[in-house]
Amino acid sequence: MDFSATSWGRVYLLTFLGTIFCIGVAFAVDGYSFESGTWRWGSDPLNNLLIPLILAPPILLLLLGKNRQLAIAHRELMTFATTDSLTSLLNRRAFTELVDGYLERVEEACETNQNALLVIDVDHFKMINDRYGHDRGDEALKMIAQTIRSSVRDTDLVGRMGGEEFSVFIPKKRKEIVHMMAERIRAAISEIEFKPSQDLHPLSVSIGGVVFENYKTFQDIYRGADEHFYAAKNNGRNRVELSVLKISASIQ
Ligand code: GH3
Ligand code: MG
Ligand code: MG
Repeated sequence: MDFSATSWGRVYLLTFLGTIFCIGVAFAVDGYSFESGTWRWGSDPLNNLLIPLILAPPILLLLLGKNRQLAIAHRELMTFATTDSLTSLLNRRAFTELVDGYLERVEEACETNQNALLVIDVDHFKMINDRYGHDRGDEALKMIAQTIRSSVRDTDLVGRMGGEEFSVFIPKKRKEIVHMMAERIRAAISEIEFKPSQDLHPLSVSIGGVVFENYKTFQDIYRGADEHFYAAKNNGRNRVELSVLKISASIQ
């Protein structure tokens, strides 16, 4: 991971500014007479300059350098805690928390946008593991994850919910657009050239989704999307089942 140029540039700049500040403080302390309460030219201007110049840069560099290391470690830890290690997508916990946080903000702001959640499950995935081995199965999962990520906008959230199941949260989009996006994902996955042996092995996914307004928690919405996902499986797989979620009818 490269946090180099700007971060070190900042450390040097802060060290420079900190040293100037220390010199200023040395002059101020030396130049102020506590007896008379007046300012005068200090008794030892050369020391006021030299002592901070010798001491401040190494001490500040050390402290700011350690601070930078801590910031990097914190960032790496956050990435580790929120990312699925196989696919580099959000893991289930991070995805759920981000969606819940978004829904809370929407509710506070009394917005009435339509948002959507898709549940995407790979069809007959067990067969890939059984036929070609777990490693080839992992390879397929990575290709599918990449394809989903590149089929949606940067502002849409994509997570791996576990096993061969993924989820996409699409904020501020109407049903027609969401349907188009889900179809685009489905079609892109069916076009993946997955070659676990001499022959290509076709990949497909079943997608269930809901478009909703003003719903409370991720769990409510996920349950709605999950029902449609089972419908997509039962209706033949490699298809999208999507509807506008009516909370009173299907959830409560
Ligand atoms: P369906 O079309 O009904 O979804 O069938 P399926 O075979 O995809 O579903 P099933 O739940 O029977 O099998 C899912 C398989 O996914 C079983 C499990 O071993 C495999 N799996 C789960 N996580 C991973 C993983 O990280 N890597 C690999 N290679 N396989 C995984
Ligand atoms: Mg499956
Ligand atoms: Mg599954």
